[in-house]
Amino acid sequence: MLILKCPYCGVMADETELSPGGEAHLTRHGPGSDDTEFEAYLFMRENPRGVHFERWRHAHGCGKWFHAARCTQTLEVFGTYSAQTTRPPQDLLDTISEKRPGWRWRDLA
Ligand SMILES: [Zn+2]
Repeated sequence: MLILKCPYCGVMADETELSPGGEAHLTRHGPGSDDTEFEAYLFMRENPRGVHFERWRHAHGCGKWFHAARCTQTLEVFGTYSAQTTRPPQDLLDTISEKRPGWRWRDLA
């Protein structure tokens, strides 16, 4: 069972307390963007075998959205952090790089 620590209230919440929100750190395209950008925003998602950044909501707790970094292959959770950011905290990226040599941010292949 997936267990994530809510970065706001500090509760270790299992997946029955959480609602998934899909991929984190999407670049949003709306009015004024071209069709290719808008199509990519609507439909194209990473589906890595390994490190993935996701949005979660502590639905049966504080109700706030947060981000989580985890491995889709091993289910290891690297950390959680505020959703009010455009990129993961540097210390989390450093931790992931130490555990997954060769991995880099936005190098999800
Ligand atoms: Zn919470």
